[in-house]
Amino acid sequence: SRLADSVARGVEAVSDSVSEALFEPVIRLGVTGLSRAGKTVFITSLVANLTNRDRMAGLTAEAEGRIVAAFLQPQPDDTVPRFDYEAHLAALTGAAPHWPESTRAVSELRLSFRVRPAGLLAGLTGPRTVHLDIVDYPGEWLLDLGLMEKDFAAWSADQLARAATRPQAANYLALARTTDAASPLDEVQAQALARSYTDYLATARAAGFYDCTPGRFLLPGDLAGSPVLTFAPLARPDRTARRALWREFERRFEAYKARVVQPFFRDHFARIDRQVVLIDALGAIHAGPPAVDDLRRALADILGAFRPGRNAFLSRLLMGKRVEKILFAATKADHLHHSQHGRLAAIMEALVREARDRADFAGAETRAMALASLRATVEETIDHDGDSLDCVRGTLRDSGKQAAFYPGALPDDPMRLLNPARQGADRWLDADYEVMTFAPARLSLKPGEGPPHIRLDRAAEFLLGDRL
Ligand code: GDP
Repeated sequence: SRLADSVARGVEAVSDSVSEALFEPVIRLGVTGLSRAGKTVFITSLVANLTNRDRMAGLTAEAEGRIVAAFLQPQPDDTVPRFDYEAHLAALTGAAPHWPESTRAVSELRLSFRVRPAGLLAGLTGPRTVHLDIVDYPGEWLLDLGLMEKDFAAWSADQLARAATRPQAANYLALARTTDAASPLDEVQAQALARSYTDYLATARAAGFYDCTPGRFLLPGDLAGSPVLTFAPLARPDRTARRALWREFERRFEAYKARVVQPFFRDHFARIDRQVVLIDALGAIHAGPPAVDDLRRALADILGAFRPGRNAFLSRLLMGKRVEKILFAATKADHLHHSQHGRLAAIMEALVREARDRADFAGAETRAMALASLRATVEETIDHDGDSLDCVRGTLRDSGKQAAFYPGALPDDPMRLLNPARQGADRWLDADYEVMTFAPARLSLKPGEGPPHIRLDRAAEFLLGDRL
């Protein structure tokens, strides 16, 4: 009968997906970090180096010769944009290498491995298939989690208090002060407020401040200009009529939570097994103590998003599932001579330790590291008035000329950077760091070679080594 047929087909489909789940494990790797942290370059180089593994000796399965193949496959989620790997790789490795377009929204890519099992099973079974689903998403969206626990009044009060400490907010605060939130909604006025608030967030972001929510105001995607992005924090008036500006902004704020933040956490965040958080720590250190301070707070906030049970909304979504491993990686370590890499790693370790304390974090295994996804420099030691300076040499992005630079020093003890009492007393990375905007180096890769990197293989080992 038809019914029996369709039941049989149903059973078949279920057992197919069961067998895939049993025999073809899937690792969902989230890649995040604030805008310009290096997500796009990281994913592109990681995939290129996992498919061409000559530079991946730090990945145990590779060192043991157990990876038979790694290849791209169609991703499982049909409605999520595919990470544009081929275009990004072409940008980085073409005849005129340049940095690819940065992450603006969620995207996904599936890389599948054929791996021979390790140890006792090695002789008994053939290669297995393991899928790695890489999910790229803006860190700005992650910080929106904090909005879920607040109503518009509480959020407004927080934002206005924070804005009062940031010079970039002067224009917005002036505009907000002259706005009567009890007056009837005027769409032109609403748009002017949202625009001014967005300008403030963008300049604060550019000045190195991390916490600039709502995240979609900076990376709106296809929501640009929509009512969910047309609100801004205001001082609460004593009384509000039904058509008041305040009421409408309150409604839009709730719509932003329900229609923008919630679906992101449900559809993407809640399904992640392993997470890498990329951080432009060198940029923050160069920008100075306020940026470093803000970075520390952001790290605790980010880690808080992964803390089971912290947030009632998230607990409902996750239903006990948790992220198993989180890697915090300082990117662009190729700006430094390797003699300073240990110091950068020590700073990252101290930052993550402190963030774990601040967020009262337990659960996932965390690790801190310094890496370069794509090494754009070579090292060079230069004689400078009898002293030797450990420099890096690269091609300048704007002029195309080769030059060697000394970025300045990092402290030998991270507490010299992080201890509030010492902050501001010293400046770090204040030599040539400002002008070190390199283009990717021109590459001539041999077969089997991925692009040059620093410690990308170690990052891969931490994130997926135990599953290969
Ligand atoms: P996203 O916004 O997080 O996707 O950041 P991108 O991956 O687009 O990186 C932003 C910029 O950081 C790039 O355009 C490069 O200028 C720089 N960058 C990223 N990774 C590296 C790296 O490994 N080495 C160097 N020298 N620069 C990098």
